[in-house]
Amino acid sequence: MKKVLFKIKIVAFTNISVLFFTTKIFANNPIQIENITKSNTTLLIYSSVLISVIFILYVIAVIKKFIFKKKSNEVLKKETDDHVKTAQSLKISKERFDLAMKGSNDGLWDRDLINNTVYYSERWKSMLGFADHEFPDSIKAFEERIHPDDSEQLMNAFHNHLNKKTDFYENKFRIKHKGGHYIWIHDRGKAIFNGEGKPIRIVGTHTDISEKQKIEDELHQYQAHLEDKVNERTQELKRAKEKAEESDRLKSAFLANMSHEIRTPMNAIIGFSDLLIDPDITEEQKHDIINHINKSSNTLVYLIDDIIDIAKIEAGQLKINKTESNINQIILDVCNSFIETNNLKENSPVKLKLKKGIKSDNFTINTDPVRFQQILINLIGNALKYTDKGFVECGYLVKTNENSSSLEFYVSDTGIGIPKEKHKHIFERFSKIEDSKTKLYRGTGLGLTITKNLVEMLGGEIWIESKENVGSTFYFSIPVDEFKGQREDVIKKEDESIKNWESNTILIAEDEESNYRVLQMALRRTNVNILRAKNGQQAVDICKANKKINLVLMDIKMPELNGIEAAKEIKQIRPELPIIAQTAYAMAEDIEITLAAGCCDYLSKPIKTKKLISTLNKYL
Ligand code: ADP
Repeated sequence: MKKVLFKIKIVAFTNISVLFFTTKIFANNPIQIENITKSNTTLLIYSSVLISVIFILYVIAVIKKFIFKKKSNEVLKKETDDHVKTAQSLKISKERFDLAMKGSNDGLWDRDLINNTVYYSERWKSMLGFADHEFPDSIKAFEERIHPDDSEQLMNAFHNHLNKKTDFYENKFRIKHKGGHYIWIHDRGKAIFNGEGKPIRIVGTHTDISEKQKIEDELHQYQAHLEDKVNERTQELKRAKEKAEESDRLKSAFLANMSHEIRTPMNAIIGFSDLLIDPDITEEQKHDIINHINKSSNTLVYLIDDIIDIAKIEAGQLKINKTESNINQIILDVCNSFIETNNLKENSPVKLKLKKGIKSDNFTINTDPVRFQQILINLIGNALKYTDKGFVECGYLVKTNENSSSLEFYVSDTGIGIPKEKHKHIFERFSKIEDSKTKLYRGTGLGLTITKNLVEMLGGEIWIESKENVGSTFYFSIPVDEFKGQREDVIKKEDESIKNWESNTILIAEDEESNYRVLQMALRRTNVNILRAKNGQQAVDICKANKKINLVLMDIKMPELNGIEAAKEIKQIRPELPIIAQTAYAMAEDIEITLAAGCCDYLSKPIKTKKLISTLNKYL
């Protein structure tokens, strides 16, 4: 600038000097001027003016240049200032970003989609257990570590964003750690697009969410478990409610039914008993009437037994008394008794068949013979009840596997059958399938419940196959520890023949007049001498006083001294005297008690004449 001013000064000075001297020459020396030509003077003036113009132009140019330079300097300065400011704010931004990344503990990835290269930050790699130099900045190296189950979903989310289907990329996936285990990553990113809308770069972060995921998984599991529990409980409550409602319905039906079941045989007994008194009835009619009374009485006894059994089962008091039991003999006895009572002779429309799985009549297994017989009676009784024509077959097979053996029994019939949807309810208490419109079947709906419980108490299972209008087969199994054979005593035929016992004296301890009368009548033809005690104490006293007594028929439930106590006392005075208990319960545990008190045998009430005779035959 100074140089420029200096130049201007020199030019200006020269110019002014030329002008000054020219004018001076004209003023001081007019003669000389005379000598000078007019054109020369004009030339001089023009020269001076030209120089002045050039000078002025030069000055203007210099001033212009000066002004322009000043302006550019200002712009430059402004630009420099802006640049510094931008650099500063960039630095602050980077610092902030680095701080944020460090604070969040996230890893950074940056993918160049044009050159297909990638950058992973140190933290990104350390998340996977690698030092910075241990893991290459390679897309393949990353993709190879993704859990196979998560890779498809990751690719989809990534490409959806690159195809602008999503505003940003976000995903959760598992990736293999250097240690071999998988860690959970929360991956987020955003792509940069060029002017044509093509993605050129995508930058994102990785957050290790393994801990969070673990807690989330546990929470989910817990929640699922809770939901399961709630559902389970809801179902349980629903079932319980349905069961309670069903039970209520069944109980009402049972009570109504029970009244009918009791009144029907009672009606027959009372009605026919009245008829017996009629002096005009023939012997044949009398026989017929007695048969009816007998049948109805039996029905009542079975009904009462069932009620007692179900009550015991519900109270958990039903006991099993296992002993060596002759299976073939028991089945045969049950079948024979049905053939007799149901009159299933040759020309009957229903035949009862028996198929033994083991031919030998002498083998035994260890089970409860009373309960086994009860199961058979229930199943065969039902089969006969629900079959009008065809056959009922009872049999069994031996089933053996590596560890155990069992007998698989079946009772098949060609009766009305049971609809499939009723199969699962058939063993529930009080369940009766009242489908038949043509025939009313009597029953309480207790038999199969008792049967199922008994089978299970004997260690077996029961199941059913049945088709409506075709027939039913009930199967049950009984486990066998060991088959024993050749026990003659088990199959010894009972001697039911009437003997002459006129030289024998028996004491009947019985408080109930009618029961005593039945026994007295039943023994009438044997000519046995009968003494009677009306309670336990009298029985003891009579035995003490009368040495001629050969046998005691002891009722259990008596006033003053019961039969058990009386038997114990008598055994102390006369250890050799046979005492036969007459029990109204005939439950396994009652039998045990009577035998433990010293009784040698038992008769369960109602006592049949044949059974009474055959039992006495063993001891007289
Ligand atoms: P119930 O005393 O009524 O016979 P159960 O418990 O023995 O009682 O049987 C329940 C129900 O099962 C019966 O009412 C009957 O509907 C059906 N049932 C049982 N056995 C048979 C069978 N062999 N054939 C057809 N239905 C049967």
